[in-house]
Amino acid sequence: SPFSVISPLKCAKVNKMQTQVEDSVKPIVDPHDIDPKLLQKLAYDALVWCSLRGLVVGDRNSERSGTVPGVDMVHAPVALLPISFPEIHWKQACEVAPIFNELVDRVSQDGEFLQQSLSRTKKVDPFTSRLLEIHSKMLKINKIEEIRLGLHRSDYMLDEKTKLLLQIELNTISSSFSGLSRLVSELHRSLLQQYREDIALDANRIPKNNSVNQFAEALALAWNEYGDPRAVIMFVVQAEERNMYDQHWLSASLRERYPTLNDSCGFNVDHGSDKRKIAIFKTLKIIKTLGEIDALGELQQDGTLVVSGELGFLMEQSRAVKCPSISYHLAGTKKIQQELAKPNVLERFLENKDDIAKLRQCFAGLWSLDESDTVKDAIGKPELYVMKPQREGGGNNIYGEDVKKALLKLQKEGTGSDAAYILMQRIFPKISCSILMREGIPHKEQTISELGVYGSYLRNKNEVLINQQAGYLMRTKVSSSNEGGVAAGFAVLDSIYLV
Ligand code: ADP
Ligand code: MG
Ligand code: MG
Repeated sequence: SPFSVISPLKCAKVNKMQTQVEDSVKPIVDPHDIDPKLLQKLAYDALVWCSLRGLVVGDRNSERSGTVPGVDMVHAPVALLPISFPEIHWKQACEVAPIFNELVDRVSQDGEFLQQSLSRTKKVDPFTSRLLEIHSKMLKINKIEEIRLGLHRSDYMLDEKTKLLLQIELNTISSSFSGLSRLVSELHRSLLQQYREDIALDANRIPKNNSVNQFAEALALAWNEYGDPRAVIMFVVQAEERNMYDQHWLSASLRERYPTLNDSCGFNVDHGSDKRKIAIFKTLKIIKTLGEIDALGELQQDGTLVVSGELGFLMEQSRAVKCPSISYHLAGTKKIQQELAKPNVLERFLENKDDIAKLRQCFAGLWSLDESDTVKDAIGKPELYVMKPQREGGGNNIYGEDVKKALLKLQKEGTGSDAAYILMQRIFPKISCSILMREGIPHKEQTISELGVYGSYLRNKNEVLINQQAGYLMRTKVSSSNEGGVAAGFAVLDSIYLV
């Protein structure tokens, strides 16, 4: 049975304190065998904890929950207990985080590489084309970004057969859940402590997760580097956002830890765009919406944006620290991920051979659709591949028989629209069993998990001020589901238990 492979609870160390109460220790072996009364108690306490500590999201059944804070909140979808994860792969993911940060920074400086790699995609994908247009304008005016701020999240799955930790993607824009993931680690630690007589798991084996504070620190330091006490940190978010509490956690961490920034944090709404930018603007007024920025923004001679016109261009041209800048955004596209996996491409950006080897070790098979042998193979064995367009946020990929259909259709059309996609080796993680909490109800499911490791990066001219791993996010989903979106309702937030 797939459940026999899960032994997080079996492997657990019973700590010394517990030996006194050994008689009453009833280690559970399998979350699916958990005593129903214990499950009820655990679930109840978890729900209380989430409510008291702000581990919440807007309720999707409510209209106002994405716009008005404080109404119609529901606990975030979470796993009731942490999922086991090999320490060696955890360490590996942490170790490569700063190397990936550096890679993004290097790639972002190679405008020709970005434009060239995306040139075919540009012709068939209007979204990518818009981004490249902004990018080429910046190249034309020779825009130099002196202060570079990256808040990234590199996602992995552990391939069961090969035992390789393989990168799913690297997010350079909207790296979400830094606020809520930290809380999930705390929730799990708290439950393990509280129920140590029933569950023989050592709370200390859940790694510390300081993601939100480390992101806040990077933002605050970037503000400091900007060097103008009147500058504000502006969060540009979607008009409707049920995950707003995750974002508010970041802004709250900034306010609490950096009181001098108190008047400088503005929460702003980006209408009609699917991206969120965190930027530092020099302005005296905290504006509320991108519409207002459109109406009020003015770019001064020295590049200062004082909050008009096409915001994409305006913001990019300004001296504001963008997170991400257009070149960081492009460096995080799936097409660039695939280009970087080609032989000898990493060598173009990094010198250290060990670093290169470490990154390459996490690369899954990645192909462009002009590689005819791979396309042929994928048509024959579509279940071994995932097809991905240049989009973010989940729900866009193609799996299974649909891969075959899509490839055959593209071949028939022959219009070059295949350049909108990449092909990726499908990764098959170990199937575990978990208890997933949704809308107050525990569900026992067979699941697979995806580990995201955050990275923060800050550079001013030649000085690298921050380059570090910055916490993590585990997401666990029902094993039969292809996509992993938490917001989309497939996955839940989880933490890891090192084994
Ligand atoms: P997005 O930017 O939309 O999040 P991803 O590349 O992360 O795009 O894909 C979304 C989800 O699809 C992932 O969270 C993961 O669950 C699943 N997925 C993506 N690539 C693979 C793969 N190679 N093998 C298995 N599952 C994958
Ligand atoms: Mg993504
Ligand atoms: Mg993703």
